[in-house]
Amino acid sequence: MSRPLVSIVGYKDPYNSLKQAIDLCFGIEDFKEQDRVLIKPNLVAWDFELPFPPFGVVTTAVLMEALIKILHDAGLHHITIGEAPLNVHKKDMGHAIFKEMGFNKLQERYGVELVDFNVDEFEEVDFGDFTLSLAKKALEADKIINFPVLKTHNQATVSLGLKNLKGCLNRKSKMFCHNKDRDLNYMFPHIIEKLPIALTIIDGIFALEKGPAQTGKAYRKDLIIASKDPFACDVVGAKILGYDVEEVEHLKYYAEIHGLGDRIEDVDIKGEDIKAHIERIEYDWEWTEEDTMPKGFEKRGISGIAIRKYDNTLCTGCSMMYNPMLLLVMSAFKGEPFKNVELVSGKKQIASKGYDYTVLFGNCACKLNKDNPNIKNPILIKGCPPKFDKIIEGLKLAGLECNYQEYLAYRQYIFSRYKKDDGFDMELYSIK
Ligand code: SF4
Repeated sequence: MSRPLVSIVGYKDPYNSLKQAIDLCFGIEDFKEQDRVLIKPNLVAWDFELPFPPFGVVTTAVLMEALIKILHDAGLHHITIGEAPLNVHKKDMGHAIFKEMGFNKLQERYGVELVDFNVDEFEEVDFGDFTLSLAKKALEADKIINFPVLKTHNQATVSLGLKNLKGCLNRKSKMFCHNKDRDLNYMFPHIIEKLPIALTIIDGIFALEKGPAQTGKAYRKDLIIASKDPFACDVVGAKILGYDVEEVEHLKYYAEIHGLGDRIEDVDIKGEDIKAHIERIEYDWEWTEEDTMPKGFEKRGISGIAIRKYDNTLCTGCSMMYNPMLLLVMSAFKGEPFKNVELVSGKKQIASKGYDYTVLFGNCACKLNKDNPNIKNPILIKGCPPKFDKIIEGLKLAGLECNYQEYLAYRQYIFSRYKKDDGFDMELYSIK
């Protein structure tokens, strides 16, 4: 049996490097001129209020433009870019991101259609034992080019092609993927079954450690990985991030249900020698063995609080507010132990006995622990996900005086640690 083909190309310039990666895996040889092609990048989020380093978080604009030119040169003119970004604080997030990255110019120059799935139509699709609402535009496409980035993910270990397709779901279905009965890693690998994925391109100009959001750390990697085989492409991407399939639950599951070989040797790699690019980067923050706080907190001497580590039932919305919450907790620490506080989140964590204050982070934790007799003083941080002011108010009720300015300084720091001279060029995220 022939092995699936994956190309790895060193990034030098957007058009030629991407074209080489696509040609090496015969990526668009089956595309026909009349095909309706949908490109699904990873544009999970953007922050328009605070400094936002997009490196390794979202697909680069320069590669997006190069892809459109390549398709155009191949006679393909029915092209749509579609994404359903996290839109918890801004209803028209998709179009705001398209505008920020200059995608409107692709509309003007190449007639590309830009679709924010969140404000478009969805269709309920049956997956046997559950249903999910998928973007109609994705279901109607003749061919989909899945265009994720090379990143790790604190819940899914890596977030590559299979995970990127979660962005074709409506908000309710995304939340449902984080349900308490069936783990996230056994939900989203099914989305691909209903979509015509013809090509996967992993934008590896950057690799992101402790992703998926901007609080992770990006490294310049200068790679493009492409394949017509979505699983093989993810296997190669994961390997470059330092992970074998057996360490990545959703890839292991996908290989099992489809009877696929899960070793890197099962893939035929063209282009760069993969060995030269494998470098393990961490996917998550380390927690104390007693599950009381991130190890970094313990090292700083923080005590008097048990922050239970988020689990996979915490949706992306709450996840995005979780790190900021941790930073706010850190800002409240002045060398004295906190007042015997526990913090729980998500859809599964039951607050324990023995704490004077119990902080319930997000609507799910509030609902789940509503009548929990273990709780002496419940502090409800409501919201789906909670907003900053609610987090600060709630933590204050538990005796934590947070300093928002310190959070702002941190955001400034994570942006300013990336220097243009080191290859962290914001122009990669802007179409001129
Ligand atoms: S409160 Fe948080 S975990 Fe619950 S549904 Fe909303 S975003 Fe998801």
